[in-house]
Amino acid sequence: MSRRIIPLADVSAIPDFSGGVSSPSGLLTDTLARPLRDLRISVTDRCNFRCVYCMPREVFDKNYQFLPHSALLSFEEIERLARVFVAHGVEKIRLTGGEPLLRKNIEFLIERLALLRTPEGRPLDVTLTTNGSLLARKAQSLKDAGLTRVTVSLDALDDALFRRMNDADFAVADVLDGIAAAQAVGLAPVKVNMVVKRGTNDQEIVPMARHFKGSGAVLRFIEYMDVGASNGWNMSEVLPSAQVVERIAEYFPLAPLEAHTAAETAQRWGYRDGSGEIGVISSVTRAFCGSCTRARLSTEGKLYLCLFATAGHDLRGLIRGGASDEAVATAIARIWEARGDRYSQLRGSASAVSREDGPRVEMSYIGG
Ligand code: SAM
Ligand code: SF4
Ligand code: SF4
Repeated sequence: MSRRIIPLADVSAIPDFSGGVSSPSGLLTDTLARPLRDLRISVTDRCNFRCVYCMPREVFDKNYQFLPHSALLSFEEIERLARVFVAHGVEKIRLTGGEPLLRKNIEFLIERLALLRTPEGRPLDVTLTTNGSLLARKAQSLKDAGLTRVTVSLDALDDALFRRMNDADFAVADVLDGIAAAQAVGLAPVKVNMVVKRGTNDQEIVPMARHFKGSGAVLRFIEYMDVGASNGWNMSEVLPSAQVVERIAEYFPLAPLEAHTAAETAQRWGYRDGSGEIGVISSVTRAFCGSCTRARLSTEGKLYLCLFATAGHDLRGLIRGGASDEAVATAIARIWEARGDRYSQLRGSASAVSREDGPRVEMSYIGG
């Protein structure tokens, strides 16, 4: 019998914006003094892959109910919300999913977002995370639409293993072609994300490092996380990033590099021979909640304050109910000012979100 999990149900209510309007100042902070700087927008809950750690086929099967088109935020609605977030201090927008390149005419949305300006008049960093399967044919139009950079997920170079991990028979060559196309059109530097699952693909760490060393692409290793409720996560399958670095340094000497920004999630390591860098994202073993400036907007317009949240705030209900931009800005300000989420820091402690609080949202729904 297959497990039925309904990760989309949550207890969110339409946010309150009564009792005075607060104009955005770009200086919003939460209860832990973290500003709002990044917005991740999931543009679809659908995907053409069935990665075993994200959308396992036994859950996301042919009976799985994806959202109907009418439930998705339209491009106009996304742009409107994004504009308010930018007024509140957001400088970087990442489109994600599901697989964002499956959303029809995604270029039109990118064009609109690329026109937004920060209160100081600077353009935003508009990026996208993709599984790469459609990137070769879309790279040029994405660049033309104003996309700044792209992050491509690739978990193995071994074709048979990669096909098993994506569980949809996509070949490594398709993704490598996508990376090459992105580099060729100037969506650079391309970042390549590899989720490391101990016992599944950790033997690919050194081959991946060898392949991308000197290529101009920045390979980043992500610790396998306990997101969502359907991937059957187990700590024994997490390979700590420190061991990833050790394994690579055995073959290619590395030296630590400074972070680009305080909010950077990856720790950077440079090859001592000057042929580029790698990053490690230690979401499990070295939590970075203290500098987490990210908000997430789900496919159907719910605002989540943490990847591990169990409930979101229904911004779609607000805007479809006729709220003004001022009311939306006030609601977002109230929500962010009340934020105290720091799941990864608390993981394992009694105060961490427990499964009894309700199912956590799936990564494919709020995006990585
Ligand atoms: N479909 C796109 C892709 O795969 O790049 C975008 C959405 S995907 C949810 C975003 C990122 O989350 C991917 O790099 C994926 O590998 C990562 N991811 C998904 N589940 C994960 C997990 N349990 N632990 C760590 N990373 C995960
Ligand atoms: Fe799809 Fe990305 Fe999840 Fe893989 S990680 S199933 S490509 S959304
Ligand atoms: Fe941010 Fe939540 Fe991840 Fe901590 S656990 S870094 S608060 S998303």
